[in-house]
Amino acid sequence: MLKINKIDVFYGKVQALFDVSMEINDKEIVSIIGANGAGKSTLMKAIAGLNKASSGSIEFMGEEISNIRAHKIVHKGIVYVPEGREVFPEMSVLENLEMGAFNRKFSKTELNNNIEESYALFPRLKERSKQLAGTLSGGEQQMLAICRGMMSDPKLIMFDEPSLGLAPVTVSEMFDAIVKIHENRKIPVIIVEQNAFMAMSISDRTYVMEVGHMVQCGNSQELLNSPTIKKAYLGG
Ligand code: ATP
Repeated sequence: MLKINKIDVFYGKVQALFDVSMEINDKEIVSIIGANGAGKSTLMKAIAGLNKASSGSIEFMGEEISNIRAHKIVHKGIVYVPEGREVFPEMSVLENLEMGAFNRKFSKTELNNNIEESYALFPRLKERSKQLAGTLSGGEQQMLAICRGMMSDPKLIMFDEPSLGLAPVTVSEMFDAIVKIHENRKIPVIIVEQNAFMAMSISDRTYVMEVGHMVQCGNSQELLNSPTIKKAYLGG
């Protein structure tokens, strides 16, 4: 469904991605792990059209998208939920959710169904629907960011560090929600995570990045048992 073939990405003169390839199939959850600065977010942003690949190709559902602008990529059904949540702080929870669907011509019923799905996933958002998003806790903002991403009925969704800065119990809640979204919508999901164990536990396959290079890829369960992965990413 998504095929990245040997892309390079530069920030000015500094190269951040080197010859990176990756593939994601229908209905798959894929995780991307790696140390700080490995290039995980850069790769997500390249898929989302926020970074341009200077060479190589990115194909989505058979179409080359590496030269398409970010807003058009959203129209094609790729949604990126960035690290740091980036909810609209001066808008209510409900308004944030509605903004997630602003580029789609949904009927009132379709819109309401998506809002109800969000509230079923995280009842706390329903209780706080009129609260300004900027006053939500970190965990609640992350819930909102996830749900806002789902509001446009994406064909593929990417979550960048959904567990960042959250308490362990909230981290589990977030990963449970991602699994539920995947089961409900049956769309491919990409998760970029520092919390390698959690991401690998819920994903089918895992890609490993090191300083701008894709260095390994495999079945997540097998990699979870690999001594080198354990040592490097799972605290021994
Ligand atoms: P983390 O887990 O810490 O978020 P990451 O694997 O997502 O790291 P990236 O954020 O993709 O890593 O960064 C990859 C490299 O590109 C780093 O060396 C970073 O300093 C650099 N980089 C990222 N964004 C920019 C930018 N806007 N301008 C210049 N360099 C950047």
